[in-house]
Amino acid sequence: MEKDIHVSIKRDDLIHPIITGNKWRKLREYIHIAQLNGIKQIISFGGAYSNHLFALAYVSHLLGIKSVGIVRGDELTVNSNPYLHKMNEWGMELIFISREKYKVKHIPNHIDLTVSLCIPEGGFGELAVQGIEKLVIEINSEEEYDHIICPIGTGATYLGICKANLNSQIHGILTLNNLSEIQANAKHLNISTQQLHEDYIFGKYAKDSKILDEFCQLFLDKHHIKIEPIYTGRMFFGLYDLIKKDYFKPKSRILVIHTGGVKN
Ligand SMILES: *Cc1c(COP(=O)(O)O)cnc(C)c1O
Repeated sequence: MEKDIHVSIKRDDLIHPIITGNKWRKLREYIHIAQLNGIKQIISFGGAYSNHLFALAYVSHLLGIKSVGIVRGDELTVNSNPYLHKMNEWGMELIFISREKYKVKHIPNHIDLTVSLCIPEGGFGELAVQGIEKLVIEINSEEEYDHIICPIGTGATYLGICKANLNSQIHGILTLNNLSEIQANAKHLNISTQQLHEDYIFGKYAKDSKILDEFCQLFLDKHHIKIEPIYTGRMFFGLYDLIKKDYFKPKSRILVIHTGGVKN
């Protein structure tokens, strides 16, 4: 059935082919500080498929800053997947550590912390939230929306938008079971969260990933816009479902943030 809802998409996926979407916005303040303070190397953490580490490796390569990626899983090598391979080629020092050590964010002794800037896992931090301000300014210079919707990983993007006190309702689609962490971060940064949707996390089952993969393919066929199952796929799936359930009033104007994440 047709619903009378207006949906616009903010194409942050088009910012850059490698440093897509919110990863650039989240990194820029850190990079800026590194440059201002003559910092020699940037260290960060992530999984084997981390978009954040991938973006950091590339930016550091471009700007001639040394980067260190501490990667979860000591069974991995630089040849475990094409992204790690690329990051290594761009000059990132990749250090593979066990899951136990990763949990406590262990930094190996040979890394000189006195000349380094350390970005928390997934790029989350006050500076990342601050980096989203630019996105908000761009949104604000466009038209008014009743609702803004984005996916949530660490929550930096979502909290950055909430922080701006726009006249819109801000919806975050959770992609992981980390609601309490998001709420704690929000409290710590003194930001009020708005609508958080937990119904689209899916599980780790093959069936779930099949549903999401198919959804992303259908979306591409219909709209010619690439999305991926982890973040933007879950978000658009959630958006469609909420629209289907008449969650939004007729004539609502919705802005969707396409946060990127499609690696080419
Ligand atoms: C990293 C990432 C997110 C999560 O953003 P947070 O600011 O960490 O919540 C969302 N979408 C895509 C495509 C990402 O790569």
